[in-house]
This record gives sequence, structure tokens and C-alpha cells, in this order.
Amino acid sequence: RAKEAGKAQFARYSEELQIVVQRRLELESALGQALQRGEFELYYQPICRLDRSPPCLSGVEALLRWRQGERLVAPLEFIPVLEESGEIVAVGEWVLRQACRQVRAWQLGGQEQLRCSVNISSRQLQQPEFVPRLIDILRETGLPPTSLILEITESLLMQDNLETLVSLRELAGLGVQLALDDFGTGYAALGYLARFPLNILKVDKSFIGGIPHDHELNTIARAIIGLGRSLGLEVAAEGIEDAEQLAFVVREGCHYAQGYWLGRPQSSADMQRLFDGEAGPEGDWCLLPADDH
Ligand code: C2E
Ligand code: MG
Ligand code: MG
Ligand code: MG
Repeated sequence: RAKEAGKAQFARYSEELQIVVQRRLELESALGQALQRGEFELYYQPICRLDRSPPCLSGVEALLRWRQGERLVAPLEFIPVLEESGEIVAVGEWVLRQACRQVRAWQLGGQEQLRCSVNISSRQLQQPEFVPRLIDILRETGLPPTSLILEITESLLMQDNLETLVSLRELAGLGVQLALDDFGTGYAALGYLARFPLNILKVDKSFIGGIPHDHELNTIARAIIGLGRSLGLEVAAEGIEDAEQLAFVVREGCHYAQGYWLGRPQSSADMQRLFDGEAGPEGDWCLLPADDH
């Protein structure tokens, strides 16, 4: 009997596994054509400077979306697949070019100070061609290197790869800014913070989400912000969802804030309406006047 039950369970298990494998294969094949078919889109989320009140727009983070018919697929569903197959290299280059071109257009349209943040996968940065290609993109789009912020993660620093370090130093030499994303969720030894040419530390949203009620998370958030500041880095808080969280990170000395409270990631057309004055910002912040540096 036990044997029969075991068999039945195994049959069910392998059926489920087959469905999972089937879905994965379908996803991979659809994704393989997405770039050529023009199914990728960039959404842009506002990042605000906190050195004045109300905060003002400092830049936008480009966030990748995959349009599949009616559905707009979020990156967590497909970026790991692109990373595994190596296609993230081509898709990531498309993201960089598209984001730089768009932000340059907004700069020329009057948002002179607007900065452009782009997420970069380890796999991309490890390509020996990464820096020369990036230089080409900057030249081609006209975006000043100092307007570009590359967001990398702790896992990249942990690989402790000499070529990566050399690439990051080259980028820093060009004036490109480097931000460490999702800080506190990886396992990077703190020593890496000093060794790499970082400019900005982005405190992960999991530490912000507990403010103000979770006292332990408040303590951790405060400690991370303090650590970044004492290392001479600029500190950005991700995942700001209400006024109290914003007030907290302002009080603790964060330089930048980003989150649904200030604005959700939105299409370039919606950002454009904001710049054209046809729509107001979602949160309490303003655009930086062109002559105000
Ligand atoms: P990330 O770089 O940390 O981006 C911030 C994520 O937090 C975005 O998710 C954004 O929509 C979300 N978010 C922003 N404000 C809030 C908030 O107030 N509350 C909450 N709960 N979430 C908020 P999204 O767009 O789904 O992107 C997820 C991740 O996918 C990104 O995390 C980034 O690691 C990766 N990603 C996105 N675009 C690209 C890309 O072009 N290339 C690469 N390599 N990775 C990308
Ligand atoms: Mg990011
Ligand atoms: Mg992040
Ligand atoms: Mg994240």
C-alpha cells in the first residue's frame, strides 16, 4: 500500500515538475525574442534630493518592464532568466542606451540637472567590452558622464574580481557615479565599501518598511545611514511609502529618497507630462528650476 501511495505521489510530483519545466521553457523562448520584437520598455521612478524643503527632483531610476500583450511583466520575473542565459548583456546595453537617450532629451527640454540611474548586472560589468561600450553610448546620446549613476549590488563587490575593480575605477575616472543598491541585504564584508569607488549607498527598502513602528528596524536603518555618512558617501533611502518614513530619513541625514510616496515608476510619457506641467507630482516635491544649481 505504502508503495502504491508512493508511486502515486511520485507521478503527481513529476507531473508538477513537468509543468514547471514547460513554463520555464516557454518563458525562455518568449524572452529570447523580446528584445528584437521591441517588447521591453523602461519605466522611470523619481529620486528626490532632501537638502531642501519640500524635496526636489534629482533624477530618475530606469526600471525595466516586459510588455506581453496586456500584461506588463515586472523584472523579478524575468531578469534572473536573462542573467542565467547571458542575454542580460544585450538587454542591459539596450536599457543603458535607451535611458541615457531619454534623460538627455529631458535635460535638453529644460531639466538640465536631471540624473539617470541604471541598474547593472554583475554579468554585464564583467564583460571586458563594458566600459568602451558605455563610453560609446555616452558619446552617442550626449549624456554627460556625471549625469549617469550605475547601480550595482553587493554580490558584484563580493566576487572580488580585479577586472571589475579596474572597470569601476575607469568609470569613476570618467565621472560616472556608482551606487550600491539594496544595501544591507547581501553579505558583503564592510571592507568592500572602502575599497570600491562608490558614491552612493542605497538603503534597502526592507529596512525602511518598518519605520516608525519597528524599533529594531529603525535602529538598523539609522546605523546604515550613519555608516554611509561616516564613510563620506551620499545615502539614499529606497521604498519610502509614507510621510513618517520620509521625515525619519530626512532627520537621519539621508541625501536622497525614492518610493511610492514620492512617485511610482511611470512611463516616459507620464514623466513627460510632469515636465510639461500638464500633471503635478504624486508626492510633495518640486522640479528643480533650470538656473538653480
Ligand atoms: P531596485 O533597483 O532596488 O529598484 C527598486 C524597486 O523597488 C523597483 O521594483 C521599484 O518599483 C520598487 N519600489 C520603488 N518604490 C517602492 C516603494 O515605496 N515600496 C515598494 N514596496 N517597492 C518600491 P521593480 O521595478 O520591480 O524592480 C525590481 C528590481 O529589478 C530592481 O530593484 C533591480 O534590481 C532589478 N532591475 C530593474 N530594472 C533593471 C535593469 O534594467 N537591469 C537590471 N540588471 N536589473 C533591473
Ligand atoms: Mg536600483
Ligand atoms: Mg534597490
Ligand atoms: Mg531591489
